[in-house]
Amino acid sequence: MKLKNDEELTAFVKDADMVLVGIGEEWGIPFEKMMQDPSFAENFQKLPTELEKERFVPYLQRAYLKDGPKGELEKAYENLLCLLRDKDYFLISMNKDKFPVQMGFEGDRCVFPCGSYESFQCDKGCNGEIIDASDAAERIYGEICKDRDIEKIEIPCCSHCKAPLVFNNIEAEKYVEAGYLVAWDRYMKWLQKTVNRKLCLLELGVGLRFPSVIRWPFEKTAFYNQKAKMFRIHHSLSQSTENIQDRCCSKEEDSVTYMANIFVS
Ligand SMILES: [Zn+2]
Repeated sequence: MKLKNDEELTAFVKDADMVLVGIGEEWGIPFEKMMQDPSFAENFQKLPTELEKERFVPYLQRAYLKDGPKGELEKAYENLLCLLRDKDYFLISMNKDKFPVQMGFEGDRCVFPCGSYESFQCDKGCNGEIIDASDAAERIYGEICKDRDIEKIEIPCCSHCKAPLVFNNIEAEKYVEAGYLVAWDRYMKWLQKTVNRKLCLLELGVGLRFPSVIRWPFEKTAFYNQKAKMFRIHHSLSQSTENIQDRCCSKEEDSVTYMANIFVS
């Protein structure tokens, strides 16, 4: 079923008891986009070898994301937040930024299963420890900016196996998932409460890279909850499965562009 117009979506959200939002890769910032930023590109040039790039680029990415979303993406988040004002919502994002929280979404109503740049873990995942990264990350980024000899920059190491500490996200050699499990548990409990409630599922820009995290569970939820309605917006993968055709409205459009231009009263 094709989404007829914006009002169809906004009206259903307003009318829903609960709203589940899935944010996908379309809302992420690819490396190429970061490279268009002069200070990011300048710092990147200071990392000549592959090993140095592997080690230090995440610190540049962290610094880039700290300022929050810009332009169309910022507008899209603003509209989304406005749309969810006073709603009982939960948001799940596949991206490694914390833009939703920076934009004003409640941290307790968000889960980031791919991790972020807030904490460290052992690269080898030799133990389940999650360590706050902010001080070390600021220091390392500062040293890169100040043209400190890259080889002399100290990277913190795991106290157990001496492997380097890396950010607790899916880029780690062995991702320690403990970092998001408390929030995931909260999400599961919230989801249980949606049974037999008028639920709106907003799936925005979610591709097929990890379908078991958002796409399939959303389809399943829409299938089992007869009062649910799902909106799937994606620039090329907006089709829905046969069994939820009557409950899923789709729109073949970039979901960031779509949300940035939606009229929210
Ligand atoms: Zn270790």
